[in-house]
Amino acid sequence: MSSLQTNAQPSSDAGQVAVQALSHAIIIDTHADTPQAFLDANYDLASPDSPYMISIPKMHTGHMGAEFFSIWVDVTWPHEDLIHRALDLIDATDQQVSKHSDVLGFASTANDIERLHSEGKIAILLGVEGGHEIEGDLRMLDVYYRLGVRYMTLTHTKNNELGDSSGDKPGWNGLSPLGRQAVARMNRLGMMVDISHVSDRTFYDAVATSKAPLIASHSSCRALCNAPRNMTDDMIRALARNGGVMDINYYPGFLSDAYREANAKVEKQVEAETDAARANAEKQGKRLSYLEEVAIERRITKDLPIPSLSDVADHIDHAVKVGGIDHVGLGSDFDGIDWAPRGLEDASKLPALVNELARRGYSEQDLEKILGGNVLRVMRQVGQVARETQAAR
Ligand SMILES: [Zn+2]
Repeated sequence: MSSLQTNAQPSSDAGQVAVQALSHAIIIDTHADTPQAFLDANYDLASPDSPYMISIPKMHTGHMGAEFFSIWVDVTWPHEDLIHRALDLIDATDQQVSKHSDVLGFASTANDIERLHSEGKIAILLGVEGGHEIEGDLRMLDVYYRLGVRYMTLTHTKNNELGDSSGDKPGWNGLSPLGRQAVARMNRLGMMVDISHVSDRTFYDAVATSKAPLIASHSSCRALCNAPRNMTDDMIRALARNGGVMDINYYPGFLSDAYREANAKVEKQVEAETDAARANAEKQGKRLSYLEEVAIERRITKDLPIPSLSDVADHIDHAVKVGGIDHVGLGSDFDGIDWAPRGLEDASKLPALVNELARRGYSEQDLEKILGGNVLRVMRQVGQVARETQAAR
């Protein structure tokens, strides 16, 4: 598909490159939804037989260096309880890091990630997924920042006080006036602005407003899969000019049109059966767990054409071709998706992706950038902009 593939090196060289990259690179994943499980299912990250996509043993096998855990609250959650729920998720994540401080460490800067990596520990970071979680109060950005949150996704699947989502009809026609203030405040704090999930107009407004590079914490390429939440080539170029990074999402419905179209046909059934199971659980005074929800989705979608690890590599190739090697990274969306690609089912499988990229001709230096170097660079630039902005006041 890309020129990179036709220039592929002989396989033994590629194997060497992959081994070198895995031993030197700090693999950073900018989006996983595991905190729901910490809070709602008492999930212990050290569990040796974990049913989740992220666990400490799986991260170790996968050579993972850092994970941004997503503090995600459903947009249907009661508005006046959003902050409370976000704090519960942050607390549950903090408890996991404390409990497993022999192998995990909390990071809030690029230097922290590198230090923890040199100590042989996995760095844990936080991102708030959805501007609705500040309940319209910009001071919450400062509060979340002080709790260690280092990015906020401006919207989730619905428009909010800050701007329009790709999953909703235009309301603000992009960023709202409050959304522009939020971006400026995040720039001053040193919190990365995440444009995954936002509408195209909101994206361009964020690029025009932000003084610091943006991230797409978990977004794939619309040229390869026509999901409205994926990035067009023009958006990828604009993000690259801004100095930002797009971290490829592994969700099958964002990787492959065949899967997306097949999934659209069963979406209503999944929704109906999930709603029924939820109502049933409520009747018994319980909450439907994430795993129970995923089990329903998997039963209905099990025969759909699930893409493979090679499709993830295609999206990385495309993003590199359009935006350049300095603007692409990894944003798995693990534990927030019903299926992961074949061959990349959980965090333990990352070496297979590294092998595939090496086979396609990426050098060790290229791989270090994609696997985490680009995110580290953006974190440092965002910190630099914050220091300059604070000094100029
Ligand atoms: Zn998401």
